[in-house]
Amino acid sequence: MKKLPRVLIVEDEAAIAELVAVNLRHNGFSPVWASDGEAAQRELDAVLPDVILLDWMLPGQSGVALAKRWRADARTKGVPILMLTARSDEPDKVAGLDAGADDYITKPFSTQELLARMRAVLRRRAPEQVADSVTMGELVLDGATHRVSYQGQSLKLGPTEFKLLHYLMKHAERVHSRGQLLDKVWGDHVFIEERTVDVHVKRLRESLGDAGAMVETVRGAGYRMTVQGART
Ligand code: CA
Repeated sequence: MKKLPRVLIVEDEAAIAELVAVNLRHNGFSPVWASDGEAAQRELDAVLPDVILLDWMLPGQSGVALAKRWRADARTKGVPILMLTARSDEPDKVAGLDAGADDYITKPFSTQELLARMRAVLRRRAPEQVADSVTMGELVLDGATHRVSYQGQSLKLGPTEFKLLHYLMKHAERVHSRGQLLDKVWGDHVFIEERTVDVHVKRLRESLGDAGAMVETVRGAGYRMTVQGART
């Protein structure tokens, strides 16, 4: 089953938060509500949302101050922020975007507008989606069915190896550093060491069997997926 995008709503007005949450729930999102910056921080520490919907005017720390803080934090900096503001004057919008918001939406707003903006920020920030199929020589990865085969034989891969292979195949013949792979394949990787990449590459090669040679180590640089390495 597809995971519903989690939305953290940071809004002190319960009526607005409730209305937004109901609309989001009806449209395939999983909303969580925090009424101030502290509650929002607790939520962020527990689970990273896919989007933060952040009210400008909050008791305690303002939305702008929170956006700045979350942008500066390695754990939260990749989470898109959509600012909610009752003000429509230009300098404030600019301040919101300067603070690190991805977009803003002015109250009152329609559900359709909110959903459109939300989907737009999600699209822009989404990590690589594994839904398409990629073929390299006789190695075939089907994103929709999560199947991998080599020379017509189906192979068994763990979920991380599958994502890693998908990324490497989509960006074949290029060298990727361990840091780049962590960014693209793991996403929220602040607690993951670069050595983890090596462990998964090793497992990936083992799972690929004869096709494992297509995953090349480039000394001092990282890894590269190449069709040249395939044993024929
Ligand atoms: Ca407010």
